[in-house]
Amino acid sequence: MGIYVHVPFCRAKCFYCGFYSVAAPGWKADYVEAVTREIATRGDYLPTREAGTLYLGGGTPSCLEREELERIVEALERQYTFAADVERTIEANPEDLTGERPRWFWELGFNRLSVGVQSFSDERLRQINRRHTGRQAMEGIRRAAEAGFDNIGMDLIIGLPGQTEGEVMADLETVAALPVTHLSVYMLSVDPGTVFEKRVERGEFRPEDEEVTAERYREVCRRAREMGFEHYEISNFARDGRYSRHNTGYWQQRPYVGFGPSAHSYDGQSRQWNTANVRRYVEALGRGELPFEREVLTPVDMYNEFVMTGLRTRWGIDPGEAERRFGACWRQAAPRVASYLASGDLELVSGRLRLTEAGCLVSDMVMSDLFAAGE
Ligand code: SF4
Repeated sequence: MGIYVHVPFCRAKCFYCGFYSVAAPGWKADYVEAVTREIATRGDYLPTREAGTLYLGGGTPSCLEREELERIVEALERQYTFAADVERTIEANPEDLTGERPRWFWELGFNRLSVGVQSFSDERLRQINRRHTGRQAMEGIRRAAEAGFDNIGMDLIIGLPGQTEGEVMADLETVAALPVTHLSVYMLSVDPGTVFEKRVERGEFRPEDEEVTAERYREVCRRAREMGFEHYEISNFARDGRYSRHNTGYWQQRPYVGFGPSAHSYDGQSRQWNTANVRRYVEALGRGELPFEREVLTPVDMYNEFVMTGLRTRWGIDPGEAERRFGACWRQAAPRVASYLASGDLELVSGRLRLTEAGCLVSDMVMSDLFAAGE
């Protein structure tokens, strides 16, 4: 199973970001107290206490001090045993990969680093309100490798206004020269509650044309493959089989427990999510309560999640398993599966059904067309 810890602090809000985070460092000490308490009280959420992956995400986990991280890791180690080959990831922003920090992360037992780079262009970074430069990102990644990390992932965003194809390809050449084993490439989306959404409403911001972004995506896929990256999920590429095992767990619907404000948990039958409000979270845990909402999954929900998570990856879904587990739902989708196979958006490879590269560009439409309706 997987363990996720949400660290909800950022130095400033990036204009595209819809994740729950606050620029309120004054809450850090109370948060650490509360999250360690949550970890201590929810050890029985899943039937096993052996974890195969740990992921500290956010927010910006790298903005915590060493003692704060240490307390969280110790709280986890009191409750859980970790598999011998455990993957322990921490997300870091480039401006934090200075001085001794990369070494602390390594010494605390993290063996995978996920760096929020987004772009190596300083102009683009200013446009999205990032707090670092392209050079800082390169130096931070190199410093992390020197500290011991041999499994480093990073993110890029494509589809930013003004971003040229040359700029995107130059970013990829920079990746090629760095000790990076995992690359996530996201197409910019204007999410609810973001600064970009407000700017779009006010007519101050226009996202890049979809066709242009799609062309960039195809180019990125082509070049990433040439660079030795395997395209294993719509937005994710890995070298030397260094897939994100934690995220692969989500896509393969393995159970996980999430701690911290807004963190989600899944036990195979239901999903639950903690309050997305650090003050409410801290105050409630101070009283020994955990504010969360819970949804029990219906057979239709389970089928839809099976389709949505399975099709995202290069391993796709096994039609035989879909038939066995979700008979009627799957049979209803059969004519639409056939039509997407004919249009080239889906393909059958070694008996498994998956999206083609063209299908990745219309994945939301394909998946929702295969969904079942009702309870
Ligand atoms: S993208 Fe990362 S650093 Fe930026 S606001 Fe979102 S969580 Fe914080």
